[in-house]
Amino acid sequence: MTDRGVYSSRVGRPLYHLSLVLCVLALFGWLWGVSSLLWFVLSIVMRVAVIALGSFVASSGVFGRVLLRGSTDRPMLALTFDDGPDPETTPQVLSLLALHKARATFFVIGERAMQHPSLIARLIAEGHQVENHSHRHSWATAFGPTSQLVADFSAAQSSIVSAGAPSPRYFRAPIGILSPPIVEAARKLGLELVGWSAKARDGWASTTVSAAMTRLLPALQPGAILLLHDGGEQLSAQRTNRPTIAPQVLAQLLPQLEARGLQAVTLRELLS
Ligand SMILES: [Zn+2]
Repeated sequence: MTDRGVYSSRVGRPLYHLSLVLCVLALFGWLWGVSSLLWFVLSIVMRVAVIALGSFVASSGVFGRVLLRGSTDRPMLALTFDDGPDPETTPQVLSLLALHKARATFFVIGERAMQHPSLIARLIAEGHQVENHSHRHSWATAFGPTSQLVADFSAAQSSIVSAGAPSPRYFRAPIGILSPPIVEAARKLGLELVGWSAKARDGWASTTVSAAMTRLLPALQPGAILLLHDGGEQLSAQRTNRPTIAPQVLAQLLPQLEARGLQAVTLRELLS
């Protein structure tokens, strides 16, 4: 584990435990007639809000520590791509990265790594980093029990290693949704959780190239971890009716990095 990065809030974890303690106190207070039912209801509402915060806002740190960005002392940032490898998009992304001498980190889906091992080998051969984005990649991942998630994340590790990549050290949760079992499964496998400092939403049908650029341009700062997609998530109609626009976004983004004197490096390099 490295400490060179910027991580999620340290307040989230104590808040998670405190919200449970308040629920228990309010329950017993109500049962013993010391406080009203309203306080118990309010404590439940607070508990639900804290859990929702932990699930959907990685920077909250409610369930555990998540890397959000690298150190800001060097003119470097990390481009990260989720949901590949994809036989259509990944080669286009690789050509653009090579053209601009940029390196990136790919959080791949284990099943897709198994289907396209030559793309994983190409990612490694061209100096990029390959990390774990689960094996099956489902909306339901966050709701699975720890044992099932350990098996799923392990299967992804195996398919990535079988394709010739080093054993992943980082994990990004499918859809960015966290849960206590996800955090525990990642911990058991020695995987560090990674979030992002800005995302393109390039896989969404409603996102245009200029909208993605509008999201990313203000985030072009040293230490940034940018999230794009080199594969479709295939999770909902909203995300499947159009391929990711990552290549078109990248074609505009990479010259902008050069204009700002920022080098795109792998996560490992960003944190080293
Ligand atoms: Zn994903």
